[in-house]
Amino acid sequence: MILLLGSLYGYQKYDQLPESATIGITYLTHMLALIVAGLSIRFSRSSLFFYILLVVITNLVLRFGWAGDELGYGLLSAFVPLLLVVLTLLPDRGIISVKAIPAYAILLLVSVLPTVVVMTSPAWTTQLVLSDWLPPQYFDWTSQSQSVLIVSFAALYVMLTLSILNPSLHVSAGFGVLFMLVIQLHFGDRGGSLNVFTSAALLMCLYAIMQETWRMAYIDELTGLPGRRALREKFQKISGSYTVAMLDVDHFKKFNDTFGHDAGDAVLRMIASKMTRVTGGGLPYRYGGEEFSIVFTGKGSRESVRHLEALREEIANKPFIIRRIGRRANDNRTAPVENNSVQVTVSIGFADSIGKESTPWDILKRADQALYRAKGKGRNCVSE
Ligand code: GH3
Ligand code: MG
Ligand code: MG
Repeated sequence: MILLLGSLYGYQKYDQLPESATIGITYLTHMLALIVAGLSIRFSRSSLFFYILLVVITNLVLRFGWAGDELGYGLLSAFVPLLLVVLTLLPDRGIISVKAIPAYAILLLVSVLPTVVVMTSPAWTTQLVLSDWLPPQYFDWTSQSQSVLIVSFAALYVMLTLSILNPSLHVSAGFGVLFMLVIQLHFGDRGGSLNVFTSAALLMCLYAIMQETWRMAYIDELTGLPGRRALREKFQKISGSYTVAMLDVDHFKKFNDTFGHDAGDAVLRMIASKMTRVTGGGLPYRYGGEEFSIVFTGKGSRESVRHLEALREEIANKPFIIRRIGRRANDNRTAPVENNSVQVTVSIGFADSIGKESTPWDILKRADQALYRAKGKGRNCVSE
């Protein structure tokens, strides 16, 4: 929304800028395209790379007037939204690979088909692209034909639905890019619209790449919890009274050996989802492997213990249903199995900062020692 409003404002003010500024903005747009495309290649974000190519190709076709007359322009305006939807629906395909050929074919189509069609100019295309289906007086506000509007709105609707049904960054970025392209095509290449809306679409891709990179660095892929890097940042900021807890799954190696690694992963996800709902304002992190940390800011261990106890109980009381028995199902060393459900338990150790001159990492070490005591006490318990 910020980019959209900013670009509409920029578009209105563009003509009042001195020529030197508009030349500068044109170069900035080119540099932005190179930087964002380079980043998308570096981080292997193929879907964003193809969006960027679509934006750049549309820009070039408009800048150099390759779409030709009204028919060519109408075809381009109808093609771009349609092809963006197709690019979104194509499965992830890499940038330089055989699987990427359909995406390149689509982009080639955008660049050459309008020109080819205009050259041959068959009557049916003119009729399909340019004729009116509804009373024309409702469409005074745009120079686009009704067919183009129908296609554009349908594409926007599909992308919006996709981004609601499957909220991923690349689909949301696709929706934003489509919005910008539709507006750009609506304004044509009058004044500064090309630079302004192309830059806005590229910035949207840049934002998506940065968000995605942030997520890769901070969020653990398996459980969706923040990872150790996020915990380190938390520890840099934390002060005053706080409690650090370490949680470890009991006999998890045996669980993996018995039911398989996939079932083990599902257990970790189940535990992570319980941890996100821990009471008392505790923040969960995946420390590594089957070990998790919880940080209670502003709480000493006397206040935190009941929340940890409630979490331990919650996990132990939830029977874990085994859907697929792993490859070593016939192993005798099984955990207790009842009707395909197993009890998964965790041990928790914790320590607080109150009255101690120590760093958060020291507190974490003490929580880890407490965890060993909890294991020694027979597991499935909380220990200080
Ligand atoms: P204890 O009760 O003493 O903690 O016994 P344990 O078997 O849980 O302890 P140990 O540290 O020996 O085993 C940890 C196991 O956790 C080993 C490894 O197979 C498993 N593990 C670590 N990370 C993952 C993971 O991401 N997915 C799965 N499925 N297993 C994991
Ligand atoms: Mg362990
Ligand atoms: Mg363990």
